[in-house]
Amino acid sequence: MIVAVHALTGAALGRLCKTHARAFVLGALSHLAADLLPHRDLEVAQEALLLGGALGFVGIRRGLDSREFAGAVGAAVPDIENLVARVFQIPDDRLLLPTHGKYHGRKTRGLGGQLALALICTASLLVPAGSCQPTPRHGN
Ligand SMILES: [Zn+2]
Repeated sequence: MIVAVHALTGAALGRLCKTHARAFVLGALSHLAADLLPHRDLEVAQEALLLGGALGFVGIRRGLDSREFAGAVGAAVPDIENLVARVFQIPDDRLLLPTHGKYHGRKTRGLGGQLALALICTASLLVPAGSCQPTPRHGN
């Protein structure tokens, strides 16, 4: 899956966590789940550019010290293995993460699913913090 989509997913999930450590771990776990889905990967330069944009967006919107940013980084980190594999031309069946090798999601040509996931996660980051809290009851 495109690493920027992983980062946006991790950021959205990080928002649900109480600590930065939990956000980082949940982001990393979301990476494994997302890689199981059918998806298409991009060239390294495209991946790097989009990741920079995604992390920049999360950092500007939520702050570099936010749980969202911790979740984004946690979700992106596992793809360091993919970067190393591409640079050194390591075959998929020799990679450590099972979702980068044997359990990689079906390869697709389209990007629609990933784009939809990215948009949903981006939208969730645009909602102000605390705006989804229940309204206190009055009376009775
Ligand atoms: Zn991956």
